[in-house]
Amino acid sequence: MGHAVMTHAHNRATTVNYNDLPTNTQHHFDQLMELADNSANAAEYEALMTALIAITGITGVRYNEILKCACPCTCPVIFDADDNNALVTEQTDAGYNLGRLQCPDCADDHPRPIED
Ligand SMILES: [Zn+2]
Ligand SMILES: [Zn+2]
Repeated sequence: MGHAVMTHAHNRATTVNYNDLPTNTQHHFDQLMELADNSANAAEYEALMTALIAITGITGVRYNEILKCACPCTCPVIFDADDNNALVTEQTDAGYNLGRLQCPDCADDHPRPIED
């Protein structure tokens, strides 16, 4: 598999390709994301997000919250959850904490309306 380096020359937050992370980091990422999704309070959620940002090495995150792209194209991009160009694909009131968002590139390439 290639060594794809995601470089965005645009003036926006850096993204990280999940598939470029070492396997153990991917595993760690998945576990922390699941914990964040089920965290009981904001302090716990914040602590988990801080750890997630640290292990992925993502930069430019505005409000201490990152997400993996929820696009049906199985996009591996991890991005700033508060990126203005991200697109919400599902409402977040269905029993989990994490938003379901498409990354800015997917929002550009094939935006998907909210379905229910
Ligand atoms: Zn995407
Ligand atoms: Zn996509």
